[in-house]
Amino acid sequence: MVFTTESHSSNTRSFEAEVRQVLDLVIHSLYSNKDIFLRELISNASDALDKLRFAALSEKELIGANEELAIKLVIDSDKKRMIIRDNGIGMNEEDLASNLGTIAKSGTKEFINSLKESGSNQDFNESLIGQFGVGFYSAFIVADTVTVLSKKAKEETVNFWQSKGDGFYTLKAATDEDIAEFISPYFDTTKQGTVIVLDLKNDDEAAAFLKEYQVRSVVKKYSDFIEYPIKLKTENPEKEGDEPEFVFEVLNSRKALWAKNKSEISEEDYKEFYRHISHDFNDPLTHIHFNAEGTNEFTALLFIPEKAPFDLFMQEDVKSLQLFINKVFITSETDLLLPKYLRFVKGVVDSSDLPLNVSREMLQENQKVVNIKKNITKKILSTLEKLKNDDKEKYSNFFKELGKVLKEGVHLDYSNKEKLLDLMMFESSSESAGVLRTLEEYSDKLNARTDLDEEVRKHIYVITGENRKELENSPYLEAFKAKDIEVLFLTDPIDEWVIMSAPEFKDKSFKAINKGNIDLGAKEEEKAEQAKKKEEFKDLLSKVQNNLAENISEVRFTDRLVNTLACLVVNENEMGANLEKIYQSANQKVGKSKRILELNPNHRVIEKLNNSFKNNQEDQLIKDYSELIYFQALLLEGSKIENLNRYNELVTNLM
Ligand code: ADP
Ligand code: MG
Repeated sequence: MVFTTESHSSNTRSFEAEVRQVLDLVIHSLYSNKDIFLRELISNASDALDKLRFAALSEKELIGANEELAIKLVIDSDKKRMIIRDNGIGMNEEDLASNLGTIAKSGTKEFINSLKESGSNQDFNESLIGQFGVGFYSAFIVADTVTVLSKKAKEETVNFWQSKGDGFYTLKAATDEDIAEFISPYFDTTKQGTVIVLDLKNDDEAAAFLKEYQVRSVVKKYSDFIEYPIKLKTENPEKEGDEPEFVFEVLNSRKALWAKNKSEISEEDYKEFYRHISHDFNDPLTHIHFNAEGTNEFTALLFIPEKAPFDLFMQEDVKSLQLFINKVFITSETDLLLPKYLRFVKGVVDSSDLPLNVSREMLQENQKVVNIKKNITKKILSTLEKLKNDDKEKYSNFFKELGKVLKEGVHLDYSNKEKLLDLMMFESSSESAGVLRTLEEYSDKLNARTDLDEEVRKHIYVITGENRKELENSPYLEAFKAKDIEVLFLTDPIDEWVIMSAPEFKDKSFKAINKGNIDLGAKEEEKAEQAKKKEEFKDLLSKVQNNLAENISEVRFTDRLVNTLACLVVNENEMGANLEKIYQSANQKVGKSKRILELNPNHRVIEKLNNSFKNNQEDQLIKDYSELIYFQALLLEGSKIENLNRYNELVTNLM
């Protein structure tokens, strides 16, 4: 279509071609997020007020003596209109032509470029446009006619701009009739500033904005922290008598605490703000308030909660950090500003550096956003580190509530793995239930044990299982108890991944005590004794191994047992019983690894069995005992015996 101005009156102009493109898309494609038009218009009003306030620094008289800088909203339901007015800097004819008739904004330019790249894929266009702030033109999402009347500060003319979003707009000086129609029913006509009148479309979603509660909730969502009061004209509920009286009700809290100077903020202010944004009744554990300066300016006010929110594990995308650009709410996508494993942190980030009109995808790839995320992550981890060092009890309580989430980071955040490991805490065999140990405490204690071989001190010994009770009595602990070596109890399913993702902590490596060989440094004489026994029982071992070949990869003697006869272990790099159970409970198929059966060479039963064996007692007896030993080791490991009938039969026979 070719647009010409000739066929219209002399006041009519056509939009720049690119504007038409944006308009078209905005009007026809933006179904999903109609609310944002109000955010955009309020943000423009706030910008205009900022500009006036700035100009008034050098020209005081620009702001009248009793004049309050404010944004006013009026709903005219008879005329199906919504009106947004500010007493900011205003626009003259030239401003209106260049600001609303052409595209000067970089964000919108980028938007158009992405549209061009996406070609004619309509679905993609729709999803794309839904993620953009589209500035002033978003008014056409809900309005079929948009009228702007504006008077620039220090100028006399009221200018009139109007468009139906059809490719043309009218621009002229406002007539008396225009003023009578669009301003005087609602506002003082002598003031500088801008009145935007939206004649709402005749559909339900647009008409919803004629309802006060709709306007209230959208303002609250996007514009709560705008500095200037946003006032809605509403009927005074206190007025008695028949004639209604109108008052302006302030909708926004205006408390952008993060933008204030720290010295002006009290502890109580912080707590109140936390409750406001988090809906948590408890006080936060601590807050972090900082400004990043330099190439990447932003302000962050972050809170670490004391208690885990009830939905922390139910909801995949908890919206925890809110991103603002100059106090205008943009988004609270998880993952954008915080790694997932810090999703319990609440707060706001405000950056004036970011372009307001960018898509979510573009934000995610925006280098500034990436840097903000890095910076915030570092700050949170160092705050936790400090808390751990300064107040261990407080930190332990935090870790009991939220450590589970933090642990995900060891697995997910390679670059912060060391720091995260340092923040981990576990229960242990040498502490009572509920007392948590850090890896550093563990290491220091083991390092002090000069009575142990150096080789023994190179590990952090851990055992994984369902709960502390089960682990406390585990046969795998026997040798460690005998030597008073501490073992960490890993009872969280995710602990398995923690030690798989980070096999080392400083100079020590994790060692699961139910895997591989355990050598706690036996003395020479003990070793000689063991070797002798091994030789003596050699044939018995291979007999047992043959009997159990179907289930067992190897039968061997071990140092790990003191009182118990036998246990099952896996090789260092294989999946233990606990992890198998975790996978199974998540309904995942796992290839069962064949276990190694370890026998205690000092146990009476072995001696007796060996005697029977040497005295050539019938094969069946050795066979029965082999099976029974295996079954019992299975039970000790916490695994199921599949052939319970057979087990029952064996035990009954024995009785
Ligand atoms: P942006 O706000 O990103 O610049 P918009 O499309 O929202 O883009 O607005 C375009 C321009 O129109 C603004 O930059 C501003 O110069 C002007 N403008 C819009 N609304 C107002 C207003 N209420 N008062 C003064 N100027 C305005
Ligand atoms: Mg704008």
